[in-house]
Amino acid sequence: MDEGDYGADYQARHNAEAVSRHRSRMELAAGAAGSEVCEECGDEIPAARRAAMPGCSLCVACMTDIEKRRGVG
Ligand SMILES: [Zn+2]
Repeated sequence: MDEGDYGADYQARHNAEAVSRHRSRMELAAGAAGSEVCEECGDEIPAARRAAMPGCSLCVACMTDIEKRRGVG
């Protein structure tokens, strides 16, 4: 076997492992992110927000509204 081929093969396998690890972590995060739409108003929750706040099920507007109401008590 050529040394270059071996290196490329190792690199390809290493990359595939990294990608599959990354993908399963993303799927885990997506599963933990809960609802894709806001429980309150039914608006779509942006993927970036769901990724930043795993488990959140409210859009920014409703979350702010509820926090405000809670704050006033
Ligand atoms: Zn909402």
